[in-house]
Amino acid sequence: ASNLVKHFPMKRGYFGEKSYVKAVSDLSLTIYQGETYGLVGESGCGKSTTGRMILRLLEPTSGSVRYRGKEVTHFSEEELRSIRKEMQIIFQDPYSALNPRKKIGKAIQEPMSIYNIGDAKQHKEAVLELLRKVGLQPEHYDRYPHEFSGGQRQRIVLARALAVHPAFIVCDEPVSALDVSIQSQILNLLEQLQEDFELTYLFIAHDLSVVRHISDRVGVMYLGHLVEEAPTDVLFSEPLHPYTRALLSAVPEPNPKKRRERIVLSGDVPSPINLPSGCVFHPRCPQAIETCKKEVPILRELAKHHRVACHLI
Ligand code: SF4
Ligand code: MG
Repeated sequence: ASNLVKHFPMKRGYFGEKSYVKAVSDLSLTIYQGETYGLVGESGCGKSTTGRMILRLLEPTSGSVRYRGKEVTHFSEEELRSIRKEMQIIFQDPYSALNPRKKIGKAIQEPMSIYNIGDAKQHKEAVLELLRKVGLQPEHYDRYPHEFSGGQRQRIVLARALAVHPAFIVCDEPVSALDVSIQSQILNLLEQLQEDFELTYLFIAHDLSVVRHISDRVGVMYLGHLVEEAPTDVLFSEPLHPYTRALLSAVPEPNPKKRRERIVLSGDVPSPINLPSGCVFHPRCPQAIETCKKEVPILRELAKHHRVACHLI
């Protein structure tokens, strides 16, 4: 994706002026085949919006999305159909994603009918195989969503996403609503499925430990901007951007030698309607200098695969 921008128009104000929620600003990132790209940031930073634009579930205000070398930004619905199958999304709340009156076997089978994959007999076999793949049992086929726990429901949603043989899945906070013990089971399952089905993931989360567990590379977002991106181990051992450092300092570190001083940011995240000038992080940045108020720092590659947007670095 390159130079993605998303502005949501707001109701006109008292004086008829038009205002926009600047959800995503000039964001460019590449997700490589077979990897898990973790996108982190506080809620409202634009990470879900980014995921939806990449899938073309939301139209970008400007910018472009390429998929396997093809420019898909201006694909029509008709043209999108062929790639929609390859791209799936799963959400935080698996319950709302499932029709409560539909048996889960049918729910998992449905996308196969929609995309005309196989016949009824093949469907049943495929669903049973998918149930097994996600750690459920054949006898679950005829049960309803309410008979399952949150973790099991996320397994069902995954089975349904896999029914159409996707290549790329956007996982939008898929474990945030689950207990910690269940979280790691689902993360391990996602890793297993990635291997079995050769999947590529965009993994969106606000929880850094979850992102660390599953991602190969991580991008950090703040107020609609990508501020830092690096391979996971590099980002966690040598974070460079002041915002990333503050985020990481809040994560409990079991190893006392690696423990960092806690950096507490002052103030709240500013409104995305009136973005701060210059570096959007400047009102809260402990290291801000005069330039930061005026000039927008560009995301630059400092070391191999390590990009940072900060005037000081
Ligand atoms: Fe802080 Fe300035 Fe760097 Fe922004 S550009 S993160 S305000 S030092
Ligand atoms: Mg979100």
